Amino acid sequence: MDEESGLWPFLSRLFGAKNGHTIEKRIEEAAQEGELKADEMVMLLNVLRLGRKQVFDIMIPRTDIVCAEIDDTLSEVMQKIVASGHSRIPIYKENRDNIVGILYAKDLLKVLSDEADGLCAEPPPTLQEFMREPFFVPETKNVKELIQEFRSRKVHLAIALDEYAGTSGLVTLEDLLEEIVGEIEDEYDAPRPEDVQPLGDRRYLVSGRTMLEDLARDAGLELESEQVETVGGYLSELAGRVPRQGEVFHVQGWRFEVKEADAKQVRTTILSPDDGAAAILSLPRLADSPRQRND
Ligand code: ADP
Repeated sequence: MDEESGLWPFLSRLFGAKNGHTIEKRIEEAAQEGELKADEMVMLLNVLRLGRKQVFDIMIPRTDIVCAEIDDTLSEVMQKIVASGHSRIPIYKENRDNIVGILYAKDLLKVLSDEADGLCAEPPPTLQEFMREPFFVPETKNVKELIQEFRSRKVHLAIALDEYAGTSGLVTLEDLLEEIVGEIEDEYDAPRPEDVQPLGDRRYLVSGRTMLEDLARDAGLELESEQVETVGGYLSELAGRVPRQGEVFHVQGWRFEVKEADAKQVRTTILSPDDGAAAILSLPRLADSPRQRND
């Protein structure tokens, strides 16, 4: 959309408008009337909704944090960086509740280059010498405020703490941006496999990102929703929250089993013909609190 005819004149009209409509309603109407493109509408609504989200809603849970122990060697941590593709590794003492620093891959490069130049210190440098101070935030912190704090402190990673000061999760600037623009993949993310991979016998490995129309085309299962466009979104809508690994859904004679999921999304599912063909939702662990720890 060019600036003259599109978004900016629309925004000035929107914020100047005193017609009693909420801003969100006005944005949705504008998209229906063709004044805004669908992706612009989604971004604007996401920005407005940021203020209602807490760090807990978007963080990586503590069980998924790739971290290292303070007594690990630099080379052990380097291996973790290479294996995970993450450039910052939280360092803990005794257990994950006690994060004492963050090791940056960039800082490790100095050691590597000294080693290459034959300048390596004796005894070898320890993690403690290289790690930086962690930035802690309560898991209940408002996401919009966190963006401002990232800007003012010039850090892009925070460790979220629960009410007992234990580690609850990790959040980075990328997680915040994803709340506005949708998923971002960087150079180190694994290449995206096919969304629907046949496994034989009418069984499929289905990514949570699969568009419902692609599922219909590739597996013949037609799902409809006014709210969501993807398989992960569909299952989350059914469950009323992000389903957990192992949960099973029976839909139109098919069975979805959640194979991988994190706090934010369903990553993969196994789709197979449903022998029982029950048109119900089976949530084996409904009693579990979504905040339950699994470590
Ligand atoms: P990186 O490129 O180092 O992974 P980003 O800020 O681009 O860092 O984050 C990409 C995703 O990886 C985000 O969802 C973030 O929460 C997650 N992430 C970053 N560092 C870690 C880590 N040490 N352990 C687990 N997840 C992490």
